[in-house]
Amino acid sequence: MDVIVARTREELRKARGEGRVALVPTMGALHEGHRSLIRLAKEHADQVVVSIFVNPLQFGPNEDFSRYPRTFDADLEVCAAEGVGVVFAPSAEEMYPPDRQVSVSAGHMGTIVEGAFRPGHFDGVLTVVLKLFNLVQPDVAVFGQKDAQQLALIRRMVADLDVPVEIVGAPTVREPDGLALSSRNRYLSPQEREIALALSRALRAGEAERAPSAVLAAARAVLERAPLQVDYCVLVDPATFAEVDDSYYGPAVLAVAARVGTTRLIDNVLLEL
Ligand code: AMP
Repeated sequence: MDVIVARTREELRKARGEGRVALVPTMGALHEGHRSLIRLAKEHADQVVVSIFVNPLQFGPNEDFSRYPRTFDADLEVCAAEGVGVVFAPSAEEMYPPDRQVSVSAGHMGTIVEGAFRPGHFDGVLTVVLKLFNLVQPDVAVFGQKDAQQLALIRRMVADLDVPVEIVGAPTVREPDGLALSSRNRYLSPQEREIALALSRALRAGEAERAPSAVLAAARAVLERAPLQVDYCVLVDPATFAEVDDSYYGPAVLAVAARVGTTRLIDNVLLEL
């Protein structure tokens, strides 16, 4: 069956099916990582809705909103091939009335780690995700572990605001050489792509260690040798994103962010300490 494209909330309401619905929120420029989310969504529902919306609220004034890749026709083909029922692709005007006032605050957790480098980013993410939940009314929504702090904050929002949506996390899809798939990878020149491999190499080096300080030292040693600007390399509690020390046992996220030329990349790995 053909995928239905809904541009307005009215078209979305008409297109939404009766059975269990899974939502996969995206900003488009779909790649194999997004496909894996769609496949996981299908296992949880009768109908999959993919939203494609480059959300202006989650970009800072000096970030890549205007040059973010927009590849709608190719995205639609991906969705059709993956058996998506509805693509919800609203305009910014459809999503945000000019007189809007109220938004979601990500709280303290929105200001640390990634949030320290992108003020307001997670408020923008949570605001659009809550709006998408209210518009689509999915039973379940799928998010990538690639954006680990985003996933943690969405779980936090759903718990704190009693949002009736089940959240499913999906593992990060990587290129054979380790580079995590990202819509932003297309900004990289071949040389920059080579440099960007230091992120996943650093995570693998960290993964090989046991104690938190050794994990961090191993990861940072790899990053120091590469010609990139590291924003952070931290080891945090996966639920709170609070940094952990050597007294900590349990699951942790080793998270890195770095700029390669003008492209900012993030990656992370889940480990057990
Ligand atoms: P984006 O379009 O980049 O905002 O991402 C939409 C969703 O896809 C988010 O839940 C991301 O975490 C997820 N995603 C992005 N890259 C990957 C990847 N390499 N593997 C798995 N999921 C991903």
